[in-house]
Amino acid sequence: MRIAVIGRGLVGAAAARHLARAGHDVVLIGPGEPVRIADHPGVFASHYDEGRITRSLDPDPFWSAVSRASIARYGEIEAQGGIAFYTERGVVMAGPEGSQAMERIGAVAARDGTDCDRLDDAGLATRFPDFRFEPGTMGWHEPRRAGFLSPRRLVAAQTRAAERAGAQVIAAEVRALDEHGRGVTIRHEAGRIEADRALVAAGAYSAALTGGAVLGTALSAAVAAD
Ligand SMILES: Cc1cc2nc3c(=O)[nH]c(=O)nc-3n(C[C@H](O)[C@H](O)[C@H](O)COP(=O)(O)OP(=O)(O)OC[C@H]3O[C@@H](n4cnc5c(N)ncnc54)[C@H](O)[C@@H]3O)c2cc1C
Repeated sequence: MRIAVIGRGLVGAAAARHLARAGHDVVLIGPGEPVRIADHPGVFASHYDEGRITRSLDPDPFWSAVSRASIARYGEIEAQGGIAFYTERGVVMAGPEGSQAMERIGAVAARDGTDCDRLDDAGLATRFPDFRFEPGTMGWHEPRRAGFLSPRRLVAAQTRAAERAGAQVIAAEVRALDEHGRGVTIRHEAGRIEADRALVAAGAYSAALTGGAVLGTALSAAVAAD
C-alpha cells in the first residue's frame, strides 16, 4: 500500500519509519527547517531546538510508563538511523519537602521500580553543588535512563531510518489534499502525487490541510492499513 505521510516533524518522521519498516510503500513529504527563521513566511514546526528533557520520573503513572517505553527504544532508533540524539545525563526533580507533587513522584517511582534516589536538603547540596535550592526542598534524582535529547536530531534519525527502510522523502510543503474513491491526491509546491492513504502529521497546520473533519478519517485509515 502506498501511504503518504505529510509533515516531517516528530510524529510524521516516526510514523514514516514504522510504516516503511512494516513493508509499506511510504512517501514522507514536508519542508526542512527554514534557513532564516526570523522572517520565514512558510509553515513552522515545534521541534526546531536542541534540548528536551527526557525522564521517567513523573507524578502521573501513565506518562512515567510511556516515557520509560520511549527511552528504552532510543538506542534502537539511533542505530537504525545512524544518528545520535540522546545524552544520558540524568535528571533531578526538586520541590517542597512533603508537597503532593513530590510525594506522587515518589509513589509512582516506587510502584514501577524506577531507579532513583531521594535527596533531602543536604543531599541536594552535596550532589548538585552548582545549584541553590530553597531550604526545605527535596529532590528525586534519576541518574540513568534519563537526560536530554535533540528533537532536530531525533527527526533526522527517524527520517534516515525510514529512508533506509525504503521510504522516499520529498522536501516540499503540501498545498492541498483531495480524497477520492481511488485514494488521495496530494498537491505540493513541486508537483503532485497519488497515494492509497494519507497520514496528516503537520502539527499545528494539520487542521488547515484537512479542514479539521478529514483528519480523523485519514489517521484511522492509515492506522488500520498498518
Ligand atoms: C518550546 C517547546 C518546547 C517543548 N518541549 C517539549 C518537551 O520537553 N517534551 C515533549 O514531549 N514535547 C515538547 N514540546 C512539544 C513537542 O515539540 C510537540 O508535541 C511535537 O513537536 C509535535 O510533533 P508533530 O510532529 O505533531 O509537530 P511538529 O514537530 O510541529 O512537526 C510538524 C511538521 O509538519 C510540517 N508541516 C506543516 N505544514 C505542512 C504542510 N502544509 N505540508 C507539509 N509539511 C507541513 C512542519 O514543517 C513540521 O516539520 C515542546 C514544544 C515547544 C514549542
